[in-house]
Amino acid sequence: MHAQALLALLAGSASLVAAVPTAAANKAAGLRLIKTSPESAGIWVSEEDKITKYRNKRIGFVDITDITDSEVISMLSTPDSETPAFAAAAVTYPTAVSHTAVANPLVSQVSTTQPQAWLTTLTNFYNRYYKSTYGTEAGTWLFNTVTSVAAANPAITVTKFTHSAFNQPSIIVKIPGTSSSLVIASAHYDSTGGSSTARGPGADDNGSGVVVILEALRVLANAKFAPKDTLEFHFYAGEEGGLLGSAGVFSNYKSAGKTVLAVMNQDMAGYSPSGKISIYTDYVDSSLTTYTRVIATAYTGTTTSDTCGYGCSDHASARSNGFPATYVCDEPIDTSTPYIHTPNDAYSTVQWAAILRHAKFTVAFLVEASYL
Ligand SMILES: [Zn+2]
Repeated sequence: MHAQALLALLAGSASLVAAVPTAAANKAAGLRLIKTSPESAGIWVSEEDKITKYRNKRIGFVDITDITDSEVISMLSTPDSETPAFAAAAVTYPTAVSHTAVANPLVSQVSTTQPQAWLTTLTNFYNRYYKSTYGTEAGTWLFNTVTSVAAANPAITVTKFTHSAFNQPSIIVKIPGTSSSLVIASAHYDSTGGSSTARGPGADDNGSGVVVILEALRVLANAKFAPKDTLEFHFYAGEEGGLLGSAGVFSNYKSAGKTVLAVMNQDMAGYSPSGKISIYTDYVDSSLTTYTRVIATAYTGTTTSDTCGYGCSDHASARSNGFPATYVCDEPIDTSTPYIHTPNDAYSTVQWAAILRHAKFTVAFLVEASYL
């Protein structure tokens, strides 16, 4: 390099160093620190850039701005291949299903009638962006709907889990068991359609996952199903903003020392040309994933597989807080919905056979895993 050019470069980098704002100044300016890989130290970006430059381009990320737990940061920096077996101390997952006599009559109660009504309302919100008033209104509607579904069994509790940095709440439903150990079915309910202000019906992503776990709740509540392990249904806020709702919930569970036997996350359950449930294999607990495939195969037939990368969905928050998670999707990525994160992720594109399949699987999973 020419000496003069080198000097110019050094001068430039010196002024660059002097100009680098502190984390506090970045935060005060409304920027957020996101991680896009285990190796990434973090990049400061605007809220809008998170959606337009990362989410829309299917670059997975985790918003770590408010994560202060060094163990969580350490796990977020641990490659997928080095994921520890979180569940090993708590549980050994069975290699076959063994509760079909209990599960089958419940699985047969699953229908698309209520999911169609719920998804109509969910997709009629202009969007469900976690920082928009629509996103908050969707949260209020969902809380009220979940509460009325859960009312079929007075033992069930419904809690609004509020987040200090934004208004959209996460929602947690609990069917108490004789054991306090937890088996969790989760889905995020926020949505984006290309920017913070775009129409974002979020039918497949992830209204579908929401109505799937809500239908499973309806069936188990109506039957007054009394599990051994405690069952929870988690409806997360702010997933599209970098797994924010689930990060808050699992941080709380980690601090409280809760025992979690399984987190089964569904993010997209309503568009499946293959007609098969897809069980993804990265950033998850491998033995729980094997068990999930055993259940899905027994109750719905052959499954497919894929990987979706870093910060893909809320199962990553369970993993980073030390809990075993599995990720269940409607299709491998290459043949998945072409409408994701656009105004065209509409109710009319949903394939109800997929919703039905995932809702049946969810009931089966919760019944089988409730005996862990
Ligand atoms: Zn999603």
